[in-house]
Amino acid sequence: MSREQQAVQRARSSFQTGRTKPLEFRIQQLKKLLLFVTERRSNIADAVKKDLAKSENGTELFEVMGLEGEILLALENLSQWAAPRPVEKNLLTVADEVFIQPEPLGVVLIIGAWNYPWAVTLQPLVGAIAAGNAAVMKPSEVSCHSARAMEELLPQYLDQDLYPVVTGGVPETQELLKQRFDHIFYTGNNTVGRLVMGAAALHLTPVTLEMGGKSPCYIDRNSDLPVACRRITWGKFTNCGQTCIAPDYILCEPSIQGRVVEEISRSIREFYTDDPKTCEDYGRIINQRHFKRVMALMEGSTVAVGGQSDESQCYIAPTVLTGVTGASTVMREEIFGPLLPVVTVSGVDEAVRFINQREKPLVVYVFSSDSQLIRRMVADTSSGALLANDCLVHFTVSALPFGGVGHSGMGCYHGRHTFERLSHLRSCLVKQLRMEGLNGVRYPPHTDRKLSWARLLLLKQVDVGRLQRLLAVAVLGGLAAFVWRRFLRRR
Ligand code: NAD
Repeated sequence: MSREQQAVQRARSSFQTGRTKPLEFRIQQLKKLLLFVTERRSNIADAVKKDLAKSENGTELFEVMGLEGEILLALENLSQWAAPRPVEKNLLTVADEVFIQPEPLGVVLIIGAWNYPWAVTLQPLVGAIAAGNAAVMKPSEVSCHSARAMEELLPQYLDQDLYPVVTGGVPETQELLKQRFDHIFYTGNNTVGRLVMGAAALHLTPVTLEMGGKSPCYIDRNSDLPVACRRITWGKFTNCGQTCIAPDYILCEPSIQGRVVEEISRSIREFYTDDPKTCEDYGRIINQRHFKRVMALMEGSTVAVGGQSDESQCYIAPTVLTGVTGASTVMREEIFGPLLPVVTVSGVDEAVRFINQREKPLVVYVFSSDSQLIRRMVADTSSGALLANDCLVHFTVSALPFGGVGHSGMGCYHGRHTFERLSHLRSCLVKQLRMEGLNGVRYPPHTDRKLSWARLLLLKQVDVGRLQRLLAVAVLGGLAAFVWRRFLRRR
């Protein structure tokens, strides 16, 4: 039996003991995960530094903090998320218990990507544990230092049978994908997304696919350009452009293109100095394959800012490209690197057309002082998320479902959404054995009279909460009338 098969089997038999069902167990594991994140900060930062040349504080801000927030949120709300949820009833079930009971799915496979190697692997794990599942984690082999650290350190904190880390590359992932899971949570590109979905289909396993795409960023002429460009510069060049929700390209009118380029250039200097290569807060491309891929995307465009590179360090300077059209090389695929092309359009109408002619992106960004124009973008485009007047920060709002649509992904997570995604929402109805007379309306013979009663009983929804409130008002009213008659009226 292969190592991958063994890990899945152990997780399944452990899950089948029912150990993950009590909330106390899930809370204990979440607390251990929190302990791991806080005690092992420096191991995490070291690994990310080796993988992506990210600074320690950068890792804290972009990987660890979000993870801590998700764990704390789950710890605080788990009892409420996992509790039975009473629902509206019809007259036929008014005296019965009718509720939704979230229950664990079983064994979840989490396949992570390399760009935020800890966040994209462990954030889904938070929801998997909270929902009472076992989870097999497969970190990306591309961020090999993080994968090794995860494999070595995480089992020192979490239950080893229920939450194993399996490392390896394509063959190992494919071996895992042959196994039967109850959910597959994949983060990565959509070529592999198709393979994952195909493998899942053989077992009828549901999937969440967190993918990317080309997220457009429309800058309206009527906006605060220095602020807009500073925020775009941050969103684009963080992690050297290797962020799924980074603005991929800018759309703006030709009349503001010059100022946009100038302001972005100014912000690059403000954030990363005149020499980003020596700046601690500017990272590197993950490997030579991606370095070559990103460099080749510049072909045919004009370098307006940056453009310098050093293959030996996988360094590409923050770069702005002009002279770009929809047909340029850089517009053919998700850039996933520090190149920011500017495509000119005649105005918002053309921007909307440009966006809608392409696959649905993970995010549509719009910068404008005109709230009507922003509402127009909300109404006339479609994407995983829409963010106006900023970049990336919607990721930090746990209440917002994070995920794509169409080619940018399916399913969503973060906060309660991860719990919901990795739970089965089971419908439960516990009927009274009394009141059999009422049930006569559904038993044969199906007379006209019974049918009209059935219509009333089945189609009338009852809001039990409202009914209880009305009852309370009636009781209070009766009590007030009694007090009035008995004690006050005589005086
Ligand atoms: P990657 O190369 O690390 O691949 C992701 C995972 O797929 C890895 O664990 C890898 O082992 C596995 N894999 C690769 N090839 C495979 C194959 N042939 N068969 C089976 N498994 C295979 O990461 P990537 O795809 O380069 O990641 C970048 C992409 O991920 C970008 O498109 C980015 O936008 C997207 N992304 C999305 C999110 C999100 O939350 N939506 C987050 C991060 C990255």
